[in-house]
Amino acid sequence: MGSREERYQNHHGLVPLAALIGREMRSEKMEKPTVRYGCAAQSRKGEDYFLTKTDCQRVLGNPSSSFSVFAVFDGHNGNAAAIFSRDHLLNYVLSAIPRGLGRDEWLQALPRALVAGFVKADKEFQSKGQTSGTTVTFVIVDGWTVTVASVGDSRCILDAQGGAVCELTVDHRLEENVEERERVTASGGEVGRLSIVGGAQVGPLRCWPGGLCLSRSIGDMDVGEFIVPIPYVKQVKLSNAGGRLIIASDGIWDALSSEMAAKSCRGLPAELAARQVVKEALRARGLKDDTTCVVVDIIPPDNSVQPSPPPKKKNKFKALFFRKHSRDSALKLSKKLSAVGIVEELFEEGSAMLAERLGNDNSNGQSTSGLFMCAICQVDLAQSEGLSVHAGSIFSTSSKPWQGPFLCSDCRNKKDAMEGKRPSGVKVA
Ligand SMILES: [Zn+2]
Repeated sequence: MGSREERYQNHHGLVPLAALIGREMRSEKMEKPTVRYGCAAQSRKGEDYFLTKTDCQRVLGNPSSSFSVFAVFDGHNGNAAAIFSRDHLLNYVLSAIPRGLGRDEWLQALPRALVAGFVKADKEFQSKGQTSGTTVTFVIVDGWTVTVASVGDSRCILDAQGGAVCELTVDHRLEENVEERERVTASGGEVGRLSIVGGAQVGPLRCWPGGLCLSRSIGDMDVGEFIVPIPYVKQVKLSNAGGRLIIASDGIWDALSSEMAAKSCRGLPAELAARQVVKEALRARGLKDDTTCVVVDIIPPDNSVQPSPPPKKKNKFKALFFRKHSRDSALKLSKKLSAVGIVEELFEEGSAMLAERLGNDNSNGQSTSGLFMCAICQVDLAQSEGLSVHAGSIFSTSSKPWQGPFLCSDCRNKKDAMEGKRPSGVKVA
């Protein structure tokens, strides 16, 4: 009985290598969705940029380890920060992932690497001494798993099969985000509207000094350090019915709700869908701002017709990462989504505290060279230089201050400034 392969296996107690490889390739082929995308943009200020890259590989030279990256950058006060982030952020994120990880471990390492990469991009850009800042919405699609990291208000939504629309980002806008407003105020920023002659207050809530409406961004060295580059990160696994992602700058979202954007382009292929969303936004509001839209379709392979398995109650990702920080609204969302079996929530975290986001590092932060490494900029540290991310924080009672991850003195200064522990822009010698 059984195939020739199985008979061979039964007889020898071994699986021939060729059969193993064949099996792996078949299952890859069955499991991996097809990713198609389209982009559309209408420029007014020339400060929106985007990135689409479908040929990334987890293991260089191995096409079956491929993943895709899509991102939108909406710059302000110039376009330099948006261009810098488009050109460098992906490398910074990938270089923060330890080498030699399997796929599951790689996906688990992503949220932390995204935090490190965003902070590094912010630090590197600020060191160039240029003003300007940018929102970033950065999406990594690996098979059915979608990981989104964002600062600012360029939203990413998911239109899942079955018509459920959900947001995979939160808007870091002072006007709407009470929690962020409280954080900024507690860290020494002032939040208020623009005052015009006669004392009347106009426009949305802004943070002073600087007058930015956003509470998180990359760049913006001329505003307080409490405008942090630490991204909200969410990781979900789609059901094998797939879904559509719409990533867009506020030129879209100021004109259309998430629901409206999703509905406006249903049934269209990605390229046409992106154009349709931009068209709808312009029709509703006119061209008042840069308007950029990237549509990504995650499509089941033709021959896969197996029904989607119900989401697991608790999985290993959650056990490791899903902690008390999830916000009420997000909890409601995940309950709703899990209830209908649309997506499986793997990870969610939005805290602006670096120590919480970098967590504990059991490898003790040692690089392959045996030296300690800064968790943000990935440079080797002298034994005397590295300071644990937990040292001197409220976490130091529960965590060991000599345990990794470690920060170089520059990154440690940046961390303290972001948390309002010392005046921003002042270097401690
Ligand atoms: Zn560093």
